[in-house]
Amino acid sequence: MRFQLAAILTLSASLAHVNALIPVFPQHSFNNGQEGGNSGNRTLDVDGFDRPEVGCGNIPDHQQVNKRERSFRRMRQAHRTSGRKPEGVSFSVHWNVVAADERPEKGWLEDWQIRKSMEIINEDFAPVGVRFELSGVNYHKNPEWYGRGVMNDLPFDQQMKPTMHVGDNRMINIFTLGDGPGGKRGFLGYSTFPGGDLGQDGIILNHNALYDGNWDGSNLGHVLTHEIGHWLGLYHTFQDGGSCSGAGDQVGDTQIHKEASWKCNSQAPSTCGAKDPVFNYMNYVDDACRREFTQGQIDRMWDHIELYRS
Ligand SMILES: [Zn+2]
Repeated sequence: MRFQLAAILTLSASLAHVNALIPVFPQHSFNNGQEGGNSGNRTLDVDGFDRPEVGCGNIPDHQQVNKRERSFRRMRQAHRTSGRKPEGVSFSVHWNVVAADERPEKGWLEDWQIRKSMEIINEDFAPVGVRFELSGVNYHKNPEWYGRGVMNDLPFDQQMKPTMHVGDNRMINIFTLGDGPGGKRGFLGYSTFPGGDLGQDGIILNHNALYDGNWDGSNLGHVLTHEIGHWLGLYHTFQDGGSCSGAGDQVGDTQIHKEASWKCNSQAPSTCGAKDPVFNYMNYVDDACRREFTQGQIDRMWDHIELYRS
């Protein structure tokens, strides 16, 4: 398979300013495996009728979650600094724009759309105490990559990402692609969890799921917030779905629920006794519903920052 960078352009200096990460914890060096998803399109009964839905591609199975959690618990025991709640941290963001050509509808993002995306994630993560600073944007004109779509195709990811990845484990690399072959939409996006191989680290997003994109219901900018939640160690609120008694998303104060929610209207279900968390960023709900992390999720993100991204 041929992988070429037909063009790599660096955005204007106005956008490509560099802001260093402000570390609040001492440096560590850790490694463990990447996890990915394995599910494609799905059809769920939403609002009384069936319609195809695709969500985020971070769908680790029970075994993968158990493996990650064992490693996480060992890390916490070995490097325990719990109770030291930080005042805040800033992560640098490097944006890898993959486009079929230089038209916005073909993935060639405009300055304002990237700036707006940064504004939104900073608003969303303000209660967490995390800020994001854009450090650079590289444009890659590559129709083949753009047209592969966001499919959580591990061999493809493994070949593509290292050619563009910039920075260390504190730099969020965002890779924006298009729809898949034949216009198949694929996933909104997916992210690596903390602690994986550096060259594979980052978030892959369909550019149509950015603010003002053409993905109805998922174009208010919060899909990126959701993916950063994964990048900082969060699972979906419906992780381990199907059971109302398991560990769920490993967070104590999120309501466990059996399956992904898609809407936050009055029909929102209560699949495990109490109302499903239809306003949580880590559910599959439309962007208009996404508005909160729980304190438990915030604590879990800070544990992961401390252990893996400091
Ligand atoms: Zn997700």
